Amino acid sequence: MKKKIVIAIDGPAGSGKSTIARLVAKKLKILYIDSGAIYRAYTLQYLREEINLEEQETLVEFLERTTVNLESGKNGALIFVNRENVTKEIRSLEVTANVSLISENKNIREVVTKKLRSEAEHNSLVMDGRDIGTVVFPDAALKIFLTASIEERARRRKDDLKSAGVETDLEKIKNDIQRRDKHDSERYLAPLQKPDDAILLDTTNLAIDECVDFIIEKTLEKSV
Ligand code: C5P
Repeated sequence: MKKKIVIAIDGPAGSGKSTIARLVAKKLKILYIDSGAIYRAYTLQYLREEINLEEQETLVEFLERTTVNLESGKNGALIFVNRENVTKEIRSLEVTANVSLISENKNIREVVTKKLRSEAEHNSLVMDGRDIGTVVFPDAALKIFLTASIEERARRRKDDLKSAGVETDLEKIKNDIQRRDKHDSERYLAPLQKPDDAILLDTTNLAIDECVDFIIEKTLEKSV
């Protein structure tokens, strides 16, 4: 691609964002940033330290001394908190259950948003999340909003957890996803919503490759 480009992919939990975004970035040979992983990393550290989010001074101090970094590894992105590799830990059920609490916090969102924007200063990239097309990069060249039925999203999450060795009940996963989506969509700051100028892509009955090819096609249209 000749010019620098930002591709923003937003959508609810389990809509296929990270799998699709990673493959799009790989095909275009550009950077992939999973913004949810950064919120998860802060959540993990918050849980470990049991800090009180209501105490402003404690929170500011926590954000100043906590470093979160992404690096590319052989099998995808690696995430570090205070230089410790926490790529696996951030996917735990406990982090997943608490991440919406952390991600609705104003101070945390400011730090993460700044970090996300800095990644695009020198790179073309694909970034996925909840507010990438609305808040982080409102001028992104291409915005995609992914959805899928709740049944399909729960089934995908169950398969992911199974691959990670965790057996969970489908109904429970469905309820957890719905609760997290509700929290993310109804929060005051940067709620999950489709940007007006985003292309809506329902992935319920689509193969991953079909979604990836669709996004690549749209990208090439934008960047010729
Ligand atoms: O994408 P993933 O499910 O890993 O995201 C975890 C959580 O991080 C979301 O449920 C949401 O609360 C938060 N998030 C966010 N804004 C983003 C990305 C993720 O608030 N851009």
